[in-house]
Amino acid sequence: MKGMHKSFMSRIAIYPGSFDPLTKGHLDIIRRASALFDELIVAVVGNPSKRSLFSLEEREVMLKESLHDIANVKTASFSGLLADFVRSCGACAIVRGLRGGADFENERQMAALNRVLAPDTDTVFLMTSDRYACVSSGAVKEIASLGGDISNFVTPSVEKRVRQRLSERKLC
Ligand code: ADP
Repeated sequence: MKGMHKSFMSRIAIYPGSFDPLTKGHLDIIRRASALFDELIVAVVGNPSKRSLFSLEEREVMLKESLHDIANVKTASFSGLLADFVRSCGACAIVRGLRGGADFENERQMAALNRVLAPDTDTVFLMTSDRYACVSSGAVKEIASLGGDISNFVTPSVEKRVRQRLSERKLC
C-alpha cells in the first residue's frame, strides 16, 4: 500500500506473563503469535504479591537468551497496569495462551477487565500444542525442587538457571 507509513500499519501485540521461568509452552505461544503480528513484545510482569524464583531482570534475560532467533520479537518488563503498558507500546492486541478450560475461566475475566480499561485492545487466545498442555512454570519448579528431570519442559539454559537457583536456596 503505497504512501502508508509503516508504523501506521504495524500490528503490535503484547504477550504478558510471569515467565518464572520461561517454559517450552510459553515458547510455543510466542512462535505462533510472532507469525500473526508484525511485532510481538514479550513482557515480564512484576507482581509484588507473587513470590518468584527469579527477579524481573533475570526473567527477561531468560527470554532474551531463548528469543534472539525470532526477528520480530522484543522483550520488556513492567510493573503496573497492563492496560497502561499496552497503550504506551501502541499495541492492538494482548496475547494469552490457553492450555484448557481452567485457563479459559481465569483468562475470560482478565480479558473482560482489560476490555474496559483498554477498549481499543483485544485479547487474542492461542491454544498450545497438546504436548505442552500439561506444562506450567509452577510444575517445572516443583519437579526440579524434588530432583526430577525438567528437560522436556524448558530449554537447556533455563534448566541450568533453575538448578543453580534451587541449589543456592538449599544452601541458605
Ligand atoms: P501468569 O502468571 O500471567 O499466568 P504465566 O507465565 O504463568 O503468567 O503465563 C503467561 C501466559 O502463558 C498465560 O496466558 C498462560 O495461560 C500461558 N501459558 C503458560 N503455560 C503455557 C503452556 N504450557 N501452553 C500455553 N500457554 C501457556
